[in-house]
Amino acid sequence: MEQDSNLREDFQWKLWIYTNYDCNLRCSYCVAESSPSAPRRAISLETVRQLVDEAVAEGFSCVYFTGGEPLILEEIYSMLDYSSQRLPTVLLTNGMLLDAKRMERLRSIANDQLVIQVSLDGGRAEHHDAYRGPGTWARTLTGIRTLQANGLRLRLSTTETPANSAHLEALCAFHLSLGIPEEDHIIRPLARRGFSTQGLEVSVENLSPEITANLDGLYWHPLATEEDLLVTTKTFPLSEAMQKVRSRLLLQLPGQVEPLKTFT
Ligand code: SF4
Repeated sequence: MEQDSNLREDFQWKLWIYTNYDCNLRCSYCVAESSPSAPRRAISLETVRQLVDEAVAEGFSCVYFTGGEPLILEEIYSMLDYSSQRLPTVLLTNGMLLDAKRMERLRSIANDQLVIQVSLDGGRAEHHDAYRGPGTWARTLTGIRTLQANGLRLRLSTTETPANSAHLEALCAFHLSLGIPEEDHIIRPLARRGFSTQGLEVSVENLSPEITANLDGLYWHPLATEEDLLVTTKTFPLSEAMQKVRSRLLLQLPGQVEPLKTFT
């Protein structure tokens, strides 16, 4: 038991929420197999509120909203508002849907605990568009500048791919030129899941757990809401899933897990 309670104290629990699975893009490396024609599979606002309430009670450090493209959803602003009033909250987006109406709604809920994380895979279009599609880099850059102009807290996420791995220094110089510091840029490896036929094989054995909710239940990590990473189909109470994850971790400890810290 002592080992268990230490684990709870030491571990920084993160909660991920898949808000939906449809997206305005169809990136060829998308682990969620999202696209404009993917079924939406949206999670409800009521479920999000309960997840956030229980995450607060259980001492989670942060909530991440991902998809699909969450900004497609009408209720995303209410979700982000509820979450960021209670915990540090990150919205993952491709940055391409930030029209005046969406921007105004984001601005209306902005606070110090809300961060918008935009995916940017290169300092030049060809390094980003290779996996995301022609014209996406330019539109994402417009989205980044719009967020900056409106004073939203912003960070960048880069997936390292064969197209950009030799150009990451140039990307860093580029984001610095945009006024985005190193601490607001993360680089994560390509994973072989979903549409991606390249990258790291990931599993419960080599992923540090980050509890991930979708409308079907709770998973080990946001890289795959698939059967092998399913923790439970019973979303509530969250504490039961945490106990299952702890038990699994204790089986693997010590030294058997090599957490891939760079994903978030
Ligand atoms: S990687 Fe992101 S932007 Fe691309 S299709 Fe998947 S969810 Fe959409």
